[in-house]
Amino acid sequence: MPCTCHNHLAVNVSRVNRIDPTRTTPIVSRWVKENKVRWNALKLAIRKKIVDEDCFGLKPVEHDILKMTANVRDYAFESNPKKIESFMDWLKRMEERGILTTSKGHPVTKAGQGLWSETYVDSAFREGIRRAEQELKPYPEQSKFLQAGMGGPMHADALGLVYSRNFSSLKSGLAQYENTLSQELALGLAEGRNPREMARSLEEKTDVSRDKCLVTARTETIRAFHVATINTYRQAGVEGVKMQAEWLATDDDRVCPKCEELQGKVFTLDEIEPMIPAHPNCRCTSIPYFAEGEEATSDESNMGE
Ligand SMILES: [Zn+2]
Ligand SMILES: [Zn+2]
Repeated sequence: MPCTCHNHLAVNVSRVNRIDPTRTTPIVSRWVKENKVRWNALKLAIRKKIVDEDCFGLKPVEHDILKMTANVRDYAFESNPKKIESFMDWLKRMEERGILTTSKGHPVTKAGQGLWSETYVDSAFREGIRRAEQELKPYPEQSKFLQAGMGGPMHADALGLVYSRNFSSLKSGLAQYENTLSQELALGLAEGRNPREMARSLEEKTDVSRDKCLVTARTETIRAFHVATINTYRQAGVEGVKMQAEWLATDDDRVCPKCEELQGKVFTLDEIEPMIPAHPNCRCTSIPYFAEGEEATSDESNMGE
């Protein structure tokens, strides 16, 4: 719904931009792709451990197996609870190598240590700043208060918070995954599954966790984009924002029902900041708003300094 008031920017109504108003889909796609690669590597490691190395000693003993490398049949002579414990210790080490690492492979224990997905958070944040600056172009009085790029202290603080959110959703996702896996393992050992059956059931649970991470990638991309946008408006002394809700990708001329409430509404920056993402996979965005009839003046922009 384009705004006709001269104070506001014309909303780009092309179909693609209505479905993805933040235009962050390429960032999400790259994030999702790397996520898949990392989880699939974990899945392969699980299969190798259980089937090739027969870590639980589930296969009938053959002479050949006993002659193989040292880590074969690692936990074969342990009790079931001990087998689970040993396997979960191993799994956590694998997670540290693949999922909880920096792009260079160093383990990460807290937010802001360069977790591999922070690259994508950064990209989304930068895209949010870029978009806000573009929206502010018609307001040169406002734009002069902007800090350059992501270096400013306001942006650094906000980015730190987005990192924390991203890190804690990854950590809680992994905790859930470990929980599910150890339950499945207990079940499999009790049932006396063969190595292939055991591996298959754990791989299925791994796929579920991998797919949950896709939702995280989409949601955290929008969070970073949104926080960056609002932060940039704040620096520029913008009074509020007008919301642009995402349209459904599958339906013609329908706004997402959950976000429809926000469409075209005006909020202060403090109000809107915690409201987006409104739900997992939300793609809403905002454009700067100045009260009608009032000329934006530089006096109002001091809060951004
Ligand atoms: Zn929505
Ligand atoms: Zn939304």
